[in-house]
Amino acid sequence: MKVEGKAGDFFVEVQTHARYVNISQCTACGDCSKVCPIVKPNEFDLGLASRKAIFTPYNQAVPSAYVRAKEDCLGDVPIACGKCIDACKSKCIDFDEPEQMLSLNVGAIVVSTGVEYYDPREASEYGYTRFENVVTSFELERLLDASSPTHGELLTFSTKKPPERIAMIQCVGSRNMKADINYCSRICCMNSIKDTLVIREHYPDAEIMVFYIDIRAFGKGFEEFYRRSLAAGVIYIKGKPSKITENKKTKEIILSYEDQLNGEIKHEVVDMAVLSSAMIPNQSARALSMILGIELDRDGFFKEKDPCVDPLESTKEGIYLCGCSTTPKDITDSIAESCGAAAKAGVHMSDAAVEEKKTEITELDLSGSPRIGVFLCHCGLNISAVVSINELREYASRLPDVVIVDDYLFACAESMQKKIQDAVIEHKLNRVVVAACTPKTHEPVFQETLAKIGFNPYLFDMANIRNQCSWVHQKEPAAATVKSKEIIKMSAARVRHLLPLAPKILSVRREVLVVGGGITGIQAAIDLANRGFKVFLVEKQQGLGGRAGNLANVYPSNRPGKELMEKKIRELYNKAVTVLTGVEIKDVRGYVGNFEVELVRSGGIGAQDNDLADELRTLGVGSIILAIGAELFDPMKKFGFGEYPGVFTSMQLEDMLAQDSDKLKNMKSVAIIQCVGSREEKGNTWCSRYCCQSAIKQAILLRNKGIDVTIFHRGIRIYSKGAEVMYRRARELGVLFIPYSELARGEVPEVINQDQGLHVEMDYKALNSRIIVPVDAVILSVGMVPNARETDRLSDILKIPKGPDSFFLERHSKFGPVETTVEGVFLAGCCQFPQDIGDSISQGSAAASKAASLLSRDVMVLSPITSVVDEQYCRGCGKCAEVCDFHAISVVEKEIGIFVARVNEALCKGCGTCVPVCPTGAIDLKHFLDKQIKAQLAALLG
Ligand code: SF4
Ligand code: SF4
Repeated sequence: MKVEGKAGDFFVEVQTHARYVNISQCTACGDCSKVCPIVKPNEFDLGLASRKAIFTPYNQAVPSAYVRAKEDCLGDVPIACGKCIDACKSKCIDFDEPEQMLSLNVGAIVVSTGVEYYDPREASEYGYTRFENVVTSFELERLLDASSPTHGELLTFSTKKPPERIAMIQCVGSRNMKADINYCSRICCMNSIKDTLVIREHYPDAEIMVFYIDIRAFGKGFEEFYRRSLAAGVIYIKGKPSKITENKKTKEIILSYEDQLNGEIKHEVVDMAVLSSAMIPNQSARALSMILGIELDRDGFFKEKDPCVDPLESTKEGIYLCGCSTTPKDITDSIAESCGAAAKAGVHMSDAAVEEKKTEITELDLSGSPRIGVFLCHCGLNISAVVSINELREYASRLPDVVIVDDYLFACAESMQKKIQDAVIEHKLNRVVVAACTPKTHEPVFQETLAKIGFNPYLFDMANIRNQCSWVHQKEPAAATVKSKEIIKMSAARVRHLLPLAPKILSVRREVLVVGGGITGIQAAIDLANRGFKVFLVEKQQGLGGRAGNLANVYPSNRPGKELMEKKIRELYNKAVTVLTGVEIKDVRGYVGNFEVELVRSGGIGAQDNDLADELRTLGVGSIILAIGAELFDPMKKFGFGEYPGVFTSMQLEDMLAQDSDKLKNMKSVAIIQCVGSREEKGNTWCSRYCCQSAIKQAILLRNKGIDVTIFHRGIRIYSKGAEVMYRRARELGVLFIPYSELARGEVPEVINQDQGLHVEMDYKALNSRIIVPVDAVILSVGMVPNARETDRLSDILKIPKGPDSFFLERHSKFGPVETTVEGVFLAGCCQFPQDIGDSISQGSAAASKAASLLSRDVMVLSPITSVVDEQYCRGCGKCAEVCDFHAISVVEKEIGIFVARVNEALCKGCGTCVPVCPTGAIDLKHFLDKQIKAQLAALLG
């Protein structure tokens, strides 16, 4: 309601709306909702289903407690309804709960207000709400969801049957001057591609068409996902319907459009049309901007200090922006930005005493013979649409020592976790099996749930009946059910032999190592130094700055890359950062919180004398951030590069533009060829994400010099703030855009240098002719590729996995984009996947935030799953020590002449590599002991 003060010392008044239900008492039993006589459209289901006046917004809502909509409620006076109050056993409903005004004193404010959806009724040509079978992509999303009113069944509204022909229409509202939405909504192409695959899975015979302007599949794994959709037979039509009509009798939808690949006017009749509506600024943004005293941009999103260089900073110090508050973004980019904004906000709180809330938990007595609880998850319809939950219930209840079986729509929902906790207490369980999805993402969720009630989380096992059964055997429900039973049986057998384990507690160092001195690494180092951490930054080149410093200018600010880098480097040197150039990592030992890093002069170990000061040869750090960037594709021999003098890479053009080279003065016409070394059938399959925006920026700079520009492209994939305006500007300036080989039509430009000079030729089916463009230069927009030597070397040293594209693999593509599977090691920038400058800077800040939150703790809790040696049987042969990649095992002389292997539990990563090489079976892995695995196998084979 009100914000006063300045960075580091804001006074904020926040109004909290009354919920009328005490969230700490509400058990989410739903008794109140059952008796409520009011029926209203459910906002979460976009009006496709109803709710009561007292309700939970959706299945997995947090908190799961109910909420009363006062405006819908009959109240208890003057019509004495109040049925919910009578029905509530917990007595947690209070109609007199007042609204509250909280006064907060905070150091920083983060704005993450998200977006709203464009109302497609404004695009009246598409008949939304006038025609029954026209829905929005958000409505489709709800319809396809297992927890939706149709339980995931996609039915037309007129026939109540699955549609046989479906059309998806992209860019409804987006990229639209008429609607004053001058930007790409960034998420809708991938969302539609995902929906085509979901529909294809459920309705293999449905004909699915996607009408698009450009398919913007620019993120990690997006291009491959797009190809899956194409391979699944989804038809992609380049063209946007100009009009939709309805067959009044059959309610079929008729689309009229121009096929842009051949210029023909065509019509399609479908059973359902889905409109991909634009994302628009949150309606509250204007009012909030006034309260906060920060600016909005012309589109109504919050304005960054500089979208390229300071993408997370608002126009007022101490107020930070993230996610869709500045422009539409997908989940991955939003998460990276939210971490980055947290890092910035942390700067204003470094002196504040942050008290961690500690709750004493009494450990449950879990001794005695096994009492197993088996909890089955439907995962919406993900599991239950294929696997018979009833059969599993019945089967699991007959397994040895199982005392209770229950099943939940979403076992990971807060209310369902509470039920698991209650069941553990009520049935005195000392072993728990959850049969649900992948342990990779959900095991920690259930372990934490159990730990909260004092249940040792290592007496728990997860049976993956979704990924391993209902997903892979979707077309064989009976077999999937049999396999699920076997997996549950194995889990129940294993859990009987599990032992309680206690985590390891270790101290943490507050130093951080940032590897890479480009814009990403520099940003990470600055943020960490601002938070008071001691930072070392190593760069194997002799200078800092990376590629960004060579850019002629950076969009959308149009400032030279050199200027930007110089500013950042100055900022870096003003902080407490030890910068080491011409230096690289030789080896890393240790573990999260306590890494020991050996450094050498770059150029190959032993290539030069190691003249580093002694104190810098080995660094002790708590965390490592990898920001080693990527390389540009070498187009040797492609499109005449290296053969014809007039063929350059986009980076070479950037140099020419930055230096205003004489070469440019003689040019009258230039062709730019996109996707060189990107989006290949095999090899570099990914979209390099940066190059469309970069090419358009370069085209404008060339046009400003009076040079004609023709861009041969495979769909223009621009998405950053201001990029759509830049694209429009390029077209206004006369830049010619010619699509090639979109959807493999076999139209590929050829660069020819013959008597008539350098020119680009291509068959162009739309015009039924061959295009010939005489040029003075051809620019190849080269893709980004992993820095192979460094990625391989560091992956080997740090045991960080690489993805199929050979970029470093993040922990989770959506929810952990800057984390790795190695605790304490983070990723940022183009070594994870190609990024533009703004995104790289956000990722640098995000990685800094993750490292800072890790190192802000006094101690580190490590997994107790390590190997263990039974010295009775150990002969001290050292075979286990030889194979251990983490140097966690050493052979020691236990008594004179008696050698045994000893495990350093802090170093052991629990990989289990040592176990099978032991000739005497003396080494075993806790939590995966031989007897536990044998019990599983016996259950399967018995
Ligand atoms: S008072 Fe009546 S109408 Fe209002 S929430 Fe309770 S039962 Fe529903
Ligand atoms: S030019 Fe680059 S950004 Fe554009 S589509 Fe090709 S690879 Fe993607």
